[in-house]
Amino acid sequence: MDVTNNGGRRALVVGLGISGIAAALRLRQIGWTPVIIERAAGRRSGGYFIALFGAGRAAAQRLGILERIIDRGADGVSYDIGRAGRRRPGLGFRDFPGRPWLMTRGDLEAAGFAALPPDVEIRYATVPARIEQDADGVNVTLTDTAGGTSTTERFDLVVGADGLRSTVRRLVFGPHERYLHRLNYMAVAFQMPGALPGHDQSDSVVLAEPRRSMWAFPFKDGPPTVLLTYHTDDAQAEFTRPKVDRVREVFGPEPPGPALGAALDALESAEDVLFDSVEQVHMDSWHRGRVVLVGDAAWCVTLYAGMGASTGMAGADLLGTMLARHPGSVTEALTGWEQRLRPTIEYLQGNGRRMRSLFVPATRFELAQRRIMLRVSKMPVTSPLFLRWRTRGKVARMKDADFAHPGPDVPVRVHA
Ligand SMILES: Cc1cc2nc3c(=O)[nH]c(=O)nc-3n(C[C@H](O)[C@H](O)[C@H](O)COP(=O)(O)OP(=O)(O)OC[C@H]3O[C@@H](n4cnc5c(N)ncnc54)[C@H](O)[C@@H]3O)c2cc1C
Repeated sequence: MDVTNNGGRRALVVGLGISGIAAALRLRQIGWTPVIIERAAGRRSGGYFIALFGAGRAAAQRLGILERIIDRGADGVSYDIGRAGRRRPGLGFRDFPGRPWLMTRGDLEAAGFAALPPDVEIRYATVPARIEQDADGVNVTLTDTAGGTSTTERFDLVVGADGLRSTVRRLVFGPHERYLHRLNYMAVAFQMPGALPGHDQSDSVVLAEPRRSMWAFPFKDGPPTVLLTYHTDDAQAEFTRPKVDRVREVFGPEPPGPALGAALDALESAEDVLFDSVEQVHMDSWHRGRVVLVGDAAWCVTLYAGMGASTGMAGADLLGTMLARHPGSVTEALTGWEQRLRPTIEYLQGNGRRMRSLFVPATRFELAQRRIMLRVSKMPVTSPLFLRWRTRGKVARMKDADFAHPGPDVPVRVHA
């Protein structure tokens, strides 16, 4: 761990999600003073299922939070089901390439939050309203949305870790439309009150049909979380109707059957529901002057890659490493940081687009391909090959590789 005195440098971290917490932890480790602002009135908890791969665990180790993170994944049976109750052996998330630990987003955020030193300042209900920079610093106008007041403060660095629809990105880099790439799918995620009917709590259950699917992700110590994901021709229009009505319409008109029916009922009473369109963020550069974006704000790989949390933590960890290595030049630090990260992130974005067909087949052909893959994975002759792909193939290696490892110092190419 690099612990250096950086002469009292102050960084504004925007967003108290996984990436923002990791950035604040790492900045503090290298001697900076992070100030976190969060739009919400308090810290969120709960959330949907998250897989943490080797890349994320290695970063968590360096951030000092790995021992607080528990793999809650269940080793039950994986089923591919039909609406009327048909069951076949299926593939759960643990059968995907890599060796993930499973938890909720809230578990991971709580682990990071608990490790934040008590003197790290966190201001809730606060958003950036204006960001102006010169060669020596950044002036940020901060609005307290509860009190309706604004102040302008100066920082040495601004880290935008404010998610897919980042305000920092909009203020400094330009409008969302320039960077957001819709995949034309929706994601609806929530926690079940108990196991799906006819299944153990530890079962992984998938119901896949053309353009729509249901996944139940099991935990060994609690009820599963469910993901409903479906194709849309108009993501904007999805937000104009009550979400429960829209989801019931998409998964109809056929009778849902017991498992999907229970999930749709649970959606109606769930307290915390994620309902959002699936979008990637594509940018030519993740930094401008003394402003840098991390996590979903910069590169959202989508849930289909299963690497948003791991890349957010790894990106934040490497950011600290590069700032510590280039104490005299934020430009060199950010340029070197991006040069190290970009090849892996671009690979994972491509993987996110490809993995979509496993989560939700777009056509009958993709559904048939999915079924063939299931069979291949279970046949005595081919299952060892499948296991090899899953644990040692390129995707697995990319997800588990410690790509934020400090490694040897390499020259940074700063373009004029
Ligand atoms: C259904 C689903 C399943 C997923 N599964 C996985 C998985 O298996 N593995 C995995 O690695 N990833 C997964 N992901 C992705 C992962 O959840 C995200 O990549 C990750 O949470 C991004 O973290 P973040 O901190 O970058 O952004 P966010 O989690 O979006 O956090 C941003 C924070 O900034 C705050 N904020 C927003 N705007 C402002 C503002 N203007 N001012 C101040 N604060 C602001 C927000 O309130 C929030 O607290 C999944 C995502 C979904 C939706």
